[in-house]
Amino acid sequence: MAIQPIRLFGDPVLRTPASPVTDFDKELRVLVKDLAETMMDAPGAGLAAPQIGVSLRVFTYYVDDMLGHLINPSLDLSDDRQDGEEGCLSLPGIYFDTPRALRVVAKGFNQHGEPVTIEGSELLARALQHETDHLDGILFIDRMDREQRKLALKAIREAEWAGQATPVVKESPHATFGRGL
Ligand code: ZN
Repeated sequence: MAIQPIRLFGDPVLRTPASPVTDFDKELRVLVKDLAETMMDAPGAGLAAPQIGVSLRVFTYYVDDMLGHLINPSLDLSDDRQDGEEGCLSLPGIYFDTPRALRVVAKGFNQHGEPVTIEGSELLARALQHETDHLDGILFIDRMDREQRKLALKAIREAEWAGQATPVVKESPHATFGRGL
């Protein structure tokens, strides 16, 4: 087991575009394993490498009992949109409506360097967009409409973890319904 501390909002690594993976080696497989274990422990529906302080284009997801990972992703988004609440393991307890594309086709690679395509709608599509955003230094608050973002920023300022210098792993006292990403 190698559960890693999850970096919180305010950590510069979360605003840094991550580098593409070039070596599909043992180190990468350890990273994928660490991400999956940290995500399942949180618990969350997705976790991107920058959230554990590794600036590489890798994420894991766990949606509808399906555990997966994707490396160097690129996304095709549907024009259809979905609304709904979204959360992030790097902003514990912050849940606000975040518009997303309803369907996504994600292309990338698995940990062995083989090309993979993941098609998802609804929560899986939301997770794929949320995690790919993390790799570009984008957070879900950036995707909210103006009013929701204002409320979210207020909630962040009032959060007990706001401004904490050291990373802290928090466990939600109630079920997250897999919405932490
Ligand atoms: Zn997140």
